[in-house]
Amino acid sequence: MATNRTFTMLKPDAVEKGHIGAILEKISASGFKIVAMKLTRMTKADAETFYGIHKDRPFFGELVEYMTRGPIVAAILEKDNAVEDFRTLIGATNPADAAEGTIRKMYAASLGENAVHGSDSDDNAAIEGAFHFSGREMF
Ligand code: UDP
Ligand code: MG
Repeated sequence: MATNRTFTMLKPDAVEKGHIGAILEKISASGFKIVAMKLTRMTKADAETFYGIHKDRPFFGELVEYMTRGPIVAAILEKDNAVEDFRTLIGATNPADAAEGTIRKMYAASLGENAVHGSDSDDNAAIEGAFHFSGREMF
């Protein structure tokens, strides 16, 4: 995957609350092109692998429960400087610290249930995109 791509998930809370359309509209309006997208649900094993870096953190069990409790929207997004610009668009991990107008400020309920994921590096964007999509699902 090229370095102008990032990976996102609209997490179960955002899907449950009916925010898919509003969040995708904001992503598109911010200049990101959707090059892969699906509604899917992670198994426990999927979530444990995807968030493996956090496996020793106290919130890991809750994180896996949360991320597997319902469907998510997984997508790969393309834009110049995609990883950094998307992290700016979503805002801080804790919505209480997120800037006004960011997706987490607008749609996240708490530090744990924070509506949206964004890759934190080009390498992780490629790994996370490939975790969810086959080559022929990426455009
Ligand atoms: N998380 C949590 N408690 C914490 C930190 C993180 O429940 O104290 C959850 C939250 O859903 C977050 C995810 O774990 O989005 C991954 O954490 P990370 O620090 O990677 O934050 P992100 O990269 O998503 O901003
Ligand atoms: Mg992270």
